[in-house]
Amino acid sequence: MTLLITGGFGFIGSAVVRRLLTATDHAVVNIDKMTYAATPATLGMHAGDPRHVHIKADICDVEAMRAAFATHRPRAVMHLAAESHVDRSIDGPAEFIRTNVVGTQVLLEAAREYWNTLEGEAKAAFRFHHVSTDEVFGSLYPGDAPFTPETPYDPRSPYSASKAASDHLVRAWNHTYGFPSFVSNTTNNYGPWQFPEKLIPLVTLNALEGKPLPVYGEGTNVRDWLHVEDHAEALVLALLNGTPGATYCIGPRQERTNLEVVKGICAVLDRLRPDPAGPRERLITYVRDRPGHDFRYAMDPSGAEDALGWRPRHGFEDGLEHTIRWYLDNEAWWRPIRDKAYAGQRLGNSK
Ligand code: NAD
Repeated sequence: MTLLITGGFGFIGSAVVRRLLTATDHAVVNIDKMTYAATPATLGMHAGDPRHVHIKADICDVEAMRAAFATHRPRAVMHLAAESHVDRSIDGPAEFIRTNVVGTQVLLEAAREYWNTLEGEAKAAFRFHHVSTDEVFGSLYPGDAPFTPETPYDPRSPYSASKAASDHLVRAWNHTYGFPSFVSNTTNNYGPWQFPEKLIPLVTLNALEGKPLPVYGEGTNVRDWLHVEDHAEALVLALLNGTPGATYCIGPRQERTNLEVVKGICAVLDRLRPDPAGPRERLITYVRDRPGHDFRYAMDPSGAEDALGWRPRHGFEDGLEHTIRWYLDNEAWWRPIRDKAYAGQRLGNSK
């Protein structure tokens, strides 16, 4: 059957596409506008696979979305296309509202129009899976219980507010129209192909080059780190088995402070590529905190684990080393990106 994925050339979407092409027989229609965050090379060995079709289109384009559904007649949709970088949302929120909020509404309506044309088994089986973040729940503090599907929304950055709005739209379409949509909310992802503006690749590459390792505030902010391949596995299970109206909180129970993450990267690199100038922790540079920086995110994934029969496979320290080795082996991808625009930028953030 055919599955429609949006944002399938992004960091998480591409892991989902690779998993679908590797572990299933399904065909994938990948709607991706190809923003700065898209990487065609993520298909890897699947480049040219006839089961993958790319539609270069904006999810805000009503006619293009209608045509995609009419032409490809998918059995299910996984919606990942978004503007995803918190610092960019602080510098310029408009594009986040356009893609994340308006784009989700356009996609929902195109999907609902198509779903209304279905009958019988095809209509009963259709699903719309919206991929979202733990950031919609706001900030936790030491001693607080982790987020669950019942945690009230309290988004605090333009990015998380735009994602919260899109989550509400997806639930409203389920509640109001009986549309078979559901949401998954997930913690910080890391792994291969993550754009070099995000914390783990940025610190890895700066450390490799002997550049400062910028850490917001005192580095005490806490995130719950999920390997992208574990996330992709959970997302595919949810897409194929998810219940309309459900919320799946997906996370690995692996909380680390930003400083622990940065020191962990330094330790792995010192072992794999010793620096003649000395241990790389000397490069850690504390920078002024991000405005409105949420202190801690953590997820209680027990409901999703039971519902999906899923468990993460990667422990954080092993997954981190695997990721660092991948960046060491894939300089041909990240070098031009870094040289072009991102080296030395104000970064060192959590997502
Ligand atoms: P990403 O920025 O790496 O990729 C986003 C993809 O969407 C890109 O390929 C881009 O070209 C595409 N896109 C952007 N705007 C588009 C538009 N208007 N029309 C069509 N395509 C468009 O993002 P990611 O890190 O892979 O995140 C994917 C999803 O998962 C997002 O919805 C994000 O909010 C959510 N999420 C991410 C994380 C994380 O840690 N990265 C954690 C939880 C949830």
